Amino acid sequence: MTKPATLHLEGITKHFSQMASPAVADVTLTLNQGELLALLGPSGCGKTTLLRIVAGFERPESGTVKLGERIVASPDRWVAPEQRDTGMVFQDYALFPHLDVAENVAFGLKKRQSRENSASIKERTTEAIALVGLTGLEKRYPHELSGGQQQRVALARALAPQPSLILLDEPLSNLDVQVRLRLRQEVRSILKEIGTSAIFVTHDQEEALAISDKVGVMHKGYLEQLGTPEELYTEPASRFVAKFVTQANFLPARRQGRFWETEIGCFDALDSWTAKNQIATAENAEKAELMLRAESISLYPDDTSQVVIQDRQFLGREYQYQLRTPSGRQLQARTTTETRLPIGARVQLSIANNALRVFPMDSSTLSDAQSSALSVS
Ligand code: ADP
Ligand code: MG
Repeated sequence: MTKPATLHLEGITKHFSQMASPAVADVTLTLNQGELLALLGPSGCGKTTLLRIVAGFERPESGTVKLGERIVASPDRWVAPEQRDTGMVFQDYALFPHLDVAENVAFGLKKRQSRENSASIKERTTEAIALVGLTGLEKRYPHELSGGQQQRVALARALAPQPSLILLDEPLSNLDVQVRLRLRQEVRSILKEIGTSAIFVTHDQEEALAISDKVGVMHKGYLEQLGTPEELYTEPASRFVAKFVTQANFLPARRQGRFWETEIGCFDALDSWTAKNQIATAENAEKAELMLRAESISLYPDDTSQVVIQDRQFLGREYQYQLRTPSGRQLQARTTTETRLPIGARVQLSIANNALRVFPMDSSTLSDAQSSALSVS
């Protein structure tokens, strides 16, 4: 028999009073045992609210939260946060300033397992402190620790009771870049080592892709796509996901028979890929947008071309080119270092097979300058 999923959310919706649009809208997702899910989206898209609903700090107005085989929230059922078997880590660490490291870590154990004897509390505390690499610092107080060390304490405190699910709300956002990069790798290793399922909230797309097994992209309360990092990259379900996750180039385009016509030339529609739920809209679209990834572009010198190389950077294995289109749009291209094209050169672009992604253009995102650039072509 297969094990039950660690977490199953079904149709979760939450409005805050007077808000016209929901903070969380009809979210359904499943997290399997040992899986690491990153919830990714811009500020205000509902990530924290969804996490608080799972933890039991907010009550959804509709939908069901199931932890393991137990329903912990539904229209007629409610389980309090301390009885949910989840651990939480916050952006601002939230340690007790008057307790030392060991006491902070033991706090959750004492609260949850009042019947446990002090020997086992001590053992679990020591284990959790070792797991996050803080052995030797047990007697320090939070103010005697760096931000990274404080966040390790918070993680140890959440892990000590061995919850079935760890919820981390932007845990690395207050840290310096160097510490952040190192800790994100360590957090992943620790969670994988002990096999705990986790949801990791972040607004940083690179962090989301790096840390997780699956990424859920949120937009205005909705879960726009749930998939592996590779799926989000190769098959973005919407323009929002494509733009937020991959930082690619976007070019307005118009369909002419077999081709997508743009200000820098035509692209064969047979080389393009459109998300299933968008095919009908994209193909009928008067205006669409083509997504061209920098690494899928090849450049060929052509004196008659209107596209000019404005700048070039050497990245070791690749050159990164900044290109300028006739309308003044900036495009990025990355190519191998076999050929080195001069700044100022005019170039033609070609795109790797199947590398084009097509999205119907949202009229609200089309500026006047872009519209006129399109009609010039
Ligand atoms: P995120 O964590 O993605 O930045 P939040 O879940 O914090 O987003 O917020 C989602 C939306 O809900 C925002 O519009 C926010 O202003 C609103 N919101 C969050 N918490 C409350 C609250 N306690 N009362 C009223 N509105 C709230
Ligand atoms: Mg938040």
